[in-house]
Amino acid sequence: MTSIVICGIGLLYTGDPEREEIGDAAVVIEDDRIAWVGEAGQAPDADVRVDAGGRCVIPGFVDSHAHLVFAGDRTAEFAARMSGQSYTAGGIRTTVEATRQASDAALATRAAALVDEMLAQGTTTVEIKSGYGLTVEDERRSLEIAGGFTDETTYLGAHVVPAGIDADDYVRLVTGEMLEACAPYAKWVDVFCERGAFDGDQTREILTAGIKTGLQTRVHANQLGEGPGVRIACELGAASADHCTHLSDADVQALASSATVATLLPGAEFSTRSPYPDARRLLDAGVTVAIATDCNPGSSFTSSMPFCVALAVREMRMTPLEAVRAATYGGARALRRTDVGWLRPGARADLVVLDAPSYVHLAYRPGVPLVRQVFHDGLLL
Ligand SMILES: [Zn+2]
Repeated sequence: MTSIVICGIGLLYTGDPEREEIGDAAVVIEDDRIAWVGEAGQAPDADVRVDAGGRCVIPGFVDSHAHLVFAGDRTAEFAARMSGQSYTAGGIRTTVEATRQASDAALATRAAALVDEMLAQGTTTVEIKSGYGLTVEDERRSLEIAGGFTDETTYLGAHVVPAGIDADDYVRLVTGEMLEACAPYAKWVDVFCERGAFDGDQTREILTAGIKTGLQTRVHANQLGEGPGVRIACELGAASADHCTHLSDADVQALASSATVATLLPGAEFSTRSPYPDARRLLDAGVTVAIATDCNPGSSFTSSMPFCVALAVREMRMTPLEAVRAATYGGARALRRTDVGWLRPGARADLVVLDAPSYVHLAYRPGVPLVRQVFHDGLLL
């Protein structure tokens, strides 16, 4: 067993609601776990001593919503959108074409590069969805590839109805043969519940079929307009309703009175030049909020949680504390994980040393590479 004490922490944000912030702190790591957290003066001895030099330490970010298995490029679509074209769900089909033609090795190489990019920016837990294959075999292999990088794999056969297929036939496939092939590789089932993608009845049918095969649920809901997604997510006990950009009072109430987390994806609003969700309204109603990147080639091609934290503070009326909480503790809740997203004894030793005296700098100094060191499973990267 190897133990490391990280001392000289000017400010420790633990993510643990029982004691969120500790000044002049230390953390002790034993193997891949946190063994001790507290004031530096009381820290037990350890084999190795690392001095944080007065910097701020936070838990590794938990990015609970990402689409990393894909091929192709949508630079031109982004440029067109920035010249005034609007975003619709249909652009997904462009990526589907390229993904189907790509080899397993090419898809895995691309995903690995994005996971590395994320790690360098402090993300130590990531969820990865399928959804750019949309055939039985392409969805299955997308999930198998995703499983090489994370346990948080999500079956998103219901991303969009592929070109040339009748919607009812496709729902039958997604709830039948495709589900059967994908379930062994997935922890979660997800549906893009949106005009132009899947309606409320289809969403309920697909999620219910997933639940029957033992999958847990999460939903792409209320991104482009109001709709039934959020209420279905709450009704079926989904871990998370993601996007939540356009919410009625009834949607906010449903989230507040359920265990479903509202996962906000400000990179999508940034990249589609759309109005941001109102995090303040959700927080004031008592909803648990997470922030994630939605990293994908069409509507949010950022892998940066620090960027999303800055957006959340500037554009969604969150305080810096609420935003860093949503990016760590909130993400863990959205994945129903209790071993990540906070620093307390027994948790995984995933933590980030910021090149700053406070996590406030994540929003105060947007775009600046403030992630100095990342410990993942107790190892310094
Ligand atoms: Zn998404």
